[in-house]
Amino acid sequence: MNAPAALPELRYSVCPHDCPSTCALEIERIDARTIGRVRGAEDNSYTAGVVCAKVARYAERANHPDRLRQPLRRKGPKGSGSFEPLSWDDALDLAAEGLLAAERRHGPQAVWPYYYAGTMGLVMRDGIHRLRNVKRYSGQYSTICVTPAWNGYIAGTGKLAGADPREMAKSDCVVIWGTNPVHTQVNVMTHALRARKERGAKIVHVDVYRNATSEAADIAIILRPGTDGAFACAVMHVLFREGMADRDYLERFTDAPRELEAHLAAKTPQWASRITGVPVAEIEAFAQLVGRTPKTYFRLGYGFSRNRNGAVNMHAALCIAAVTGAWRHEGGGAFHNNGAIYHWNKTMIEGLDALDPAVRVLDQSRIGAVLTGDAGALKGGPPVDALFIQNTNPMMVAPDLNVVHRGFARDDLFVCVHEQFMTETAKVADVVLPATMFTEHDDLYQGGGHQHIMLGPKVVDAPEGCRSNHEVICALAKRLGAKHPGFDMSVRELIDWTLVNSGWRGIADLEREKWFDVQPAFEAAHYLKGFAWPDGKFRFKADWAGVKPQGFGPANGLPALPDHNEVIEESTAEMPFRLATSPARNFLNSSFTETRSSVKREGRPTVLVHPSDAARAGVTDGARVRLGNTRGTVLVHARLFDGLREGVLVVEGIWPNAAFEEGIGINALTGADPIGPVGGAAFHDNRVWLKPA
Ligand code: SF4
Repeated sequence: MNAPAALPELRYSVCPHDCPSTCALEIERIDARTIGRVRGAEDNSYTAGVVCAKVARYAERANHPDRLRQPLRRKGPKGSGSFEPLSWDDALDLAAEGLLAAERRHGPQAVWPYYYAGTMGLVMRDGIHRLRNVKRYSGQYSTICVTPAWNGYIAGTGKLAGADPREMAKSDCVVIWGTNPVHTQVNVMTHALRARKERGAKIVHVDVYRNATSEAADIAIILRPGTDGAFACAVMHVLFREGMADRDYLERFTDAPRELEAHLAAKTPQWASRITGVPVAEIEAFAQLVGRTPKTYFRLGYGFSRNRNGAVNMHAALCIAAVTGAWRHEGGGAFHNNGAIYHWNKTMIEGLDALDPAVRVLDQSRIGAVLTGDAGALKGGPPVDALFIQNTNPMMVAPDLNVVHRGFARDDLFVCVHEQFMTETAKVADVVLPATMFTEHDDLYQGGGHQHIMLGPKVVDAPEGCRSNHEVICALAKRLGAKHPGFDMSVRELIDWTLVNSGWRGIADLEREKWFDVQPAFEAAHYLKGFAWPDGKFRFKADWAGVKPQGFGPANGLPALPDHNEVIEESTAEMPFRLATSPARNFLNSSFTETRSSVKREGRPTVLVHPSDAARAGVTDGARVRLGNTRGTVLVHARLFDGLREGVLVVEGIWPNAAFEEGIGINALTGADPIGPVGGAAFHDNRVWLKPA
């Protein structure tokens, strides 16, 4: 009889993708270079054994035949996709020479190290700043994702932290607002569904279309994009009108309750219904529910902040929990992100001791304007003549994509891309360097959507030819004459230094325990000893002009009290639709667009059109349609769908440009003009026309 096959060895790690869940993972290690199934760690109290389907299938991505394994140099014209292999030493020499040549022409600020959250590991994501700071290269103000959401939240609480997200399971009503966790952070559903199962809690989903999260909820509020502020105001109007505001809490814990009540007198459900498209009865019923359910937990997402009034909308939604006093209760209050609880000292990772505040800082979302020489975007400094890119794919994900593509087409622009696959950004590079994946290097993680510091140890060896971000940064530093102790440290030394100098225990303890649960005490997380402003009061009156860094967005003209701020790209007779570009379930930004199973499940670039709009436009289900505005046009297929308001369109997912007939993707329609008060990109705030193609 044959002996039973040995079970694969199980290793632990952390999902590095740009998602607030930061799941603790169990990974099957098939052999020294191969991973098998990926599961959520049962013993992590937030992950609770659940991960999203795309990461459960991670072996398909990690073991993908198309992974880059050899450094490449451009052979043909820029963007032709014609490359030839070269050795690592030669490739690094070439990359360094490209950066040095730009520096010789216009000084170090002509070089822009450009990065983002393709990995959320602190060493592999943020080490690029060490090179930037030591070399005095141009800074990056990272606005593409979190800026309006964080500023809107902090405008109320004073701090980026909130009620323990595991408390959702102890709530009587979980309001999931402006995020689609079934697609993008599945663990929110774990805790919310537990509350329903164990306590009979209601789950409410507020979004711009009926999606997988709405289907799982008890109540789905579907509003027009960019109208969350109006909805929130009308809800608070009802709370005051019906005597459901917690006046004792308001007096003790908030700054201007009577001013707020007077301001809201005119913000009736009828007023909000006209703006949001939500029927008056639904607004009244939602207000009654949250007003009569003390343990209501507001889980506020990022999506609804990606409008030109996004920061105001986030703040307005947050204000509801202060009006009802939900913060008093376990299972009540609000949460967006826990960034402030980790108090990192990133001096060694980022080379902060070398940071020169006189060096200009460029807006990440305005990469198109920067590369095409817009003087304002360049902050009066020299042109950007060289890019070194890690962890991001701006040729797909950046807004105002036609301008971005024009910028990358410049013959005098040198581009080095360190990547896992031949992305569309790598295709326009001069030098392409193959990168490791999270299973192939150590890193340190924090849970934005929870409260764990986590170690993500290497699980398998990288494919021959791939190097980690840290290795590449250190090798470039040598060639560029950049000196800093961080370049001489191993990844594990950097992790240990960062932990200990941030007030946590070191890597040995973290390795033994896998993660530290650093959840602040209940009173602190619920601000029961006061909010994080000097007077301890939650602010209904936001100080938008005081938000830093100033100079990156329209800080003036934002309403201090919660309101509908009419700065969105409202539809017009010529462009009668509002388009949101929401996340697809099987992609994560541009990641996973290279895995066949994800592409198969997503189908093709598709616009969701309300049947009444489709009839008026002469569009049938499955028809090719053209969407357009002043920034560009794209060709997609239509799907008739009644789960959104008339006049609203949704295109899910950031598909590669190549998936579109004319080779330009959905971000051709999105704008790079900054959101108030201090920047951000309004990915869900686009007026467009739609025509049969
Ligand atoms: S839910 Fe988010 S963090 Fe968890 S495995 Fe999926 S992408 Fe990673």
